[in-house]
Amino acid sequence: MEILIEQITEEGLVFEFEKSVETFPVLAEMVASSECNFAAPIRTIVRVLRIGDMVEIDGDIETSVRLPCSRCLRPFETYLKPHFTLTYMRRATDIIEDTEPKEVELSAEDMGIVYFQGEKINLKDTIQEQVIMEFPLRALCKQDCKGLCPRCGADLNEDPCDCDRRSWPGKFAVLKNLKLEKSPSD
Ligand SMILES: [Zn+2]
Ligand SMILES: [Zn+2]
Repeated sequence: MEILIEQITEEGLVFEFEKSVETFPVLAEMVASSECNFAAPIRTIVRVLRIGDMVEIDGDIETSVRLPCSRCLRPFETYLKPHFTLTYMRRATDIIEDTEPKEVELSAEDMGIVYFQGEKINLKDTIQEQVIMEFPLRALCKQDCKGLCPRCGADLNEDPCDCDRRSWPGKFAVLKNLKLEKSPSD
């Protein structure tokens, strides 16, 4: 997933990569810890152009991931298709990273600027980061997933159980009983 700066022209070039999930350490770790499973390799197409020491990268990634639903816990497959645009700028070799104020570093990142050194840009970390950011915050097998019954654990999408889910055990139930006992004497 390396791009040689020298190769890139002002007219631009298109690169395509198709890599297995194992190529990306953080994604491979997520699979190893059963957080998710990938149903497809990570495919990336990038359009790259260079103006002097500035490289513009416009990329599309696509893959498919299997995740457990956060409500019913059933695994479902979802398509991830992050798009990104980044500007890579050559960092002068005499600048030591630690002496730079952190704010400058942060705002550069916010603006989509990435610094590189040397003659190549390696897109591996960028691709991995884009895939992770595209993961749904609340993974739902469907928008109206009914989830599991908090009492018996039945999957309410399949068939509703007989539990009374309107009354909850604990304090709330006790209060309700008190009220019922009191009402006849009122
Ligand atoms: Zn669900
Ligand atoms: Zn139930």
